[in-house]
Amino acid sequence: MDFSFSEEQLAIRDTIRELVQDRVAPRAAEIDEKAEYPRDIEELFAQNGLLAIPFPERYGGISGSSVTICMGIEEIAKACVTSSLILAVQALGSYPILIAGTEEQKERLCPPLAEGRVCAYALSEPGSGSDAAAMQTTAKRYGDEYVLTGSKVFITHGNVAETLVVFAVTDPDADHRGISAFVMEREQSPWATVKLEHKLGIRGSPTAMLAFEETRVPVRNRLGDEGFGFKIALGVLDRSRPGIGAQALGLAEGALDYAVGYAKERRQFGKPIAAFQGLQFMLADMATQIEAARSLVYLAATRVDEQAPDLTKVAAMAKLFASDMAMRVTTDAVQVLGGYGYIRDYPVERMMRDAKITQIYEGTNQIQRLVISRALLK
Ligand SMILES: Cc1cc2nc3c(=O)[nH]c(=O)nc-3n(C[C@H](O)[C@H](O)[C@H](O)COP(=O)(O)OP(=O)(O)OC[C@H]3O[C@@H](n4cnc5c(N)ncnc54)[C@H](O)[C@@H]3O)c2cc1C
Repeated sequence: MDFSFSEEQLAIRDTIRELVQDRVAPRAAEIDEKAEYPRDIEELFAQNGLLAIPFPERYGGISGSSVTICMGIEEIAKACVTSSLILAVQALGSYPILIAGTEEQKERLCPPLAEGRVCAYALSEPGSGSDAAAMQTTAKRYGDEYVLTGSKVFITHGNVAETLVVFAVTDPDADHRGISAFVMEREQSPWATVKLEHKLGIRGSPTAMLAFEETRVPVRNRLGDEGFGFKIALGVLDRSRPGIGAQALGLAEGALDYAVGYAKERRQFGKPIAAFQGLQFMLADMATQIEAARSLVYLAATRVDEQAPDLTKVAAMAKLFASDMAMRVTTDAVQVLGGYGYIRDYPVERMMRDAKITQIYEGTNQIQRLVISRALLK
């Protein structure tokens, strides 16, 4: 399938590509080594309008298209997956507002996010990951406020965000129909960071455990009706999963690019290692898998933009296929570099470590298979 991107989308992509080459790529190894959140990159993205991509113009943004979001994430992930999460999670945290917010909520909450106020998405809890409906965080209504109590784990940017979308139980007897969604703004509903995780990859991206101790949230910040939170959470993941596919795609492209360059330079047995058919075939397989993933990722993003009826299935396929592909391709890139692939002076071991998370977050790949098979068998 040939995806025709608009001139505007190509212009946005080219601007991001340039920015990434000049400013992000030179920082990638250091961000990983120091495991520090790259505030400078966040500011760079905000100043250059990247954080406005998830929003339509009427809410202060520049696009709102899933295809454009994916193009941006892909470009950034070629050089630095941690940095690509700054755009990916801005989209993830904004989707609940965009798909379930009232006009008043969108007009009030979106423009600051488009300008660079960081947001995050808090669904997972210590006892509820894949089984998100088993969450324990509660929200009790008192007049025109809710009081939230509980904790969330693994929240990307949870400590640096100023806006947090949180899912909590408003009716404990109603199973997944008893969950509601809320927007917390740090100034009026502060939350605590209990712990930051030490991780295998995406080491500069903070992953936070958060606590709410009778935290007050105004009723006007509830998204949708009471009891619609779980539906919103799943609707958001349908829309954000192509973005994880795009992240995996960019990551694999970065690894292949490096491996090809290295194979042409490195000499053994009197010739470049690229002259050996064993490596040529490996590179050919890597490139082929990347192209297949690209088609699926942009097909899924297009389906999201069209609000197609099969978007749940195709988004899960894109995330599943692209992330498994990225794991294989980055592992092979390490192999192409031999011993040098395994050491920190070269970027491919970081890419291999970063690839692993794409098989886990926004629903593990077992859960994607569950989603796809459910759609087939319903
Ligand atoms: C770095 C990082 C960032 C994250 N960012 C966020 C975030 O911003 N916001 C957020 O809300 N969450 C976030 N998460 C949480 C992430 O989405 C969960 O870790 C993921 O959904 C899996 O949940 P779990 O870790 O509890 O694993 P579990 O659900 O305990 O799963 C353990 C294993 O069992 C398998 N399994 C579970 N159920 C089934 C089943 N029915 N059939 C087959 N296999 C099954 C899983 O596939 C997995 O292999 C993040 C996680 C990490 C590590």
